[in-house]
Amino acid sequence: MIDNKKLVAIVQATAKRIETEKDFLTELDNAIGDGDHGINLARGFAAVEKKLPELAEKDLGAILKGIGMALVSNVGGASGPLYGTAYMKAGAALKGKAELTPEGLAAAFDAAIGGVQMRGKAHEGEKTMLDAQMPACKAYKEAIAAGKDMKAAVHEAVEAARKGVEYTKTILATKGRASYLGERSIGHQDPGATSSLMILEELEKAL
Ligand code: ADP
Ligand code: MG
Repeated sequence: MIDNKKLVAIVQATAKRIETEKDFLTELDNAIGDGDHGINLARGFAAVEKKLPELAEKDLGAILKGIGMALVSNVGGASGPLYGTAYMKAGAALKGKAELTPEGLAAAFDAAIGGVQMRGKAHEGEKTMLDAQMPACKAYKEAIAAGKDMKAAVHEAVEAARKGVEYTKTILATKGRASYLGERSIGHQDPGATSSLMILEELEKAL
């Protein structure tokens, strides 16, 4: 069961994971961007961690909203506003909720992706974080509809996100900095899709 205490623990684990993977994410961004994705996200999640004590007693929606606001205001680069909006929209979908239900998580995923698309105007297949997020969300919802529990459904989501990251190696970037590279972006996995996979993996570990 995910309540506010558990959510805070998941976010702490996510912050730790991002800090650990900072150099790897930056290396990925070096290949097709400007080499700051790990630095950007680590800075953002460090700010989130600092803010967690004042969010910890709130409901799930308010915690996620606070996380989103910290990301938007502390991360330069495209990923700050994109992830920030994703968390804020997920927060709006879970406004006032004390516990996360399987349906609540589906609504939060949908809202988060809607936020990323609203901000970034990208679609699936453009070599962005959406190529991990959208298949993951679809797999999650299908698993819930098929009667699986949240843990099993999140596992399906992680598997789909992992495939999505692999898929980004095969396609051309048409949004974000990587699009400046044209054909040369092929062969490299997208940094944002990779960090999205990590965020989902930390959720799975906690369940
Ligand atoms: P910047 O590109 O400004 O240096 P980051 O390096 O932190 O920002 O983030 C790059 C990641 O942001 C990309 O790998 C990609 O996944 C994601 N991204 C960039 N533009 C978009 C967009 N329009 N929609 C969705 N994701 C995007
Ligand atoms: Mg970058």
